[in-house]
Amino acid sequence: MRKLLLLTLVPLYLWADAHLFVLHRFDDARHPSTDTSTQILRAEFEYLKKNDYTVISLQKLHQALKNGEEINDKWVVFTIDDSFKSFYENGLPLFKEYDYPFTLFIYVEATVGHYGDYMSWEQIKESSNYGEIGFHSYSHPHLVSLSDEEITKDSQKGLKIMEDNLGYKPKYYAYPYGEYSPRVRTQIEAFGFDLIINQNAGAVDQNSDMHDLDRTALTGANNIKVKLRTKTLPTTWINPKDWPKNGKISTLKATLPQEVKRVEYYISGYGWKVAAVKSGHLDVKIDTKLKMRRTRLFLKSGNRQSSLMLVKP
Ligand SMILES: [Zn+2]
Repeated sequence: MRKLLLLTLVPLYLWADAHLFVLHRFDDARHPSTDTSTQILRAEFEYLKKNDYTVISLQKLHQALKNGEEINDKWVVFTIDDSFKSFYENGLPLFKEYDYPFTLFIYVEATVGHYGDYMSWEQIKESSNYGEIGFHSYSHPHLVSLSDEEITKDSQKGLKIMEDNLGYKPKYYAYPYGEYSPRVRTQIEAFGFDLIINQNAGAVDQNSDMHDLDRTALTGANNIKVKLRTKTLPTTWINPKDWPKNGKISTLKATLPQEVKRVEYYISGYGWKVAAVKSGHLDVKIDTKLKMRRTRLFLKSGNRQSSLMLVKP
């Protein structure tokens, strides 16, 4: 009886995962890699509605993570990067229609400089009646290439301008291009953000790192159903942790849940391979020279997944 009860409860506890999605442009065919058609987005919203998903705000997710509350498997969060005008014109009406909250991450210099494709402060303020506002840097730089001082200056400048225009400093940060490193993280953390968000595909569970939350891009065809199946694979990455100085990874080392006996691992440019896991330890010699300036690493066990981003400085 006890065993049966345990079996019933354990999966609920272990595998409740919220999903964060990132969108950029809406009905803007000039940029297919970052565009989402509102026709497809509507179908995805319908899927969420029919299958009892709840679209929540980042604030609600933050509260749950902070208080150690259980994450609901049906929670979905939408984030929109870069504050493109096409969100205001084509995306926002759909979010309003479904009454779905969102967080809009502002590329401050584009708004200040009145860049053609970007929203004005007025449009951002109007959007904030329906969602939250986050910070996406001042100049949208490749942060990994900047010095500590330059990273700090970019954030200080952008946050001051946002406070002057909106009356408050945003509590969430999304890395430009989703690029970061342990050093970049330390610099951004100094500003006291509640949540810091990457752009590695994945999910968020109760133990997710509030300063390294995974988001999945939602572009192209309607495949939200598949993306919602991804669960977190609790992983402590031991090696690599950052871009290796010689550009080469000699061993792949990580700690994984005891029950995982084998994983598939992925390195950008090399595809998927399989490795054995012994007593929760992955330790595999790979001697791989990294091909991409921005390299993604994934570990996968079934539909559970963990990811890492390595960026060449
Ligand atoms: Zn961006």
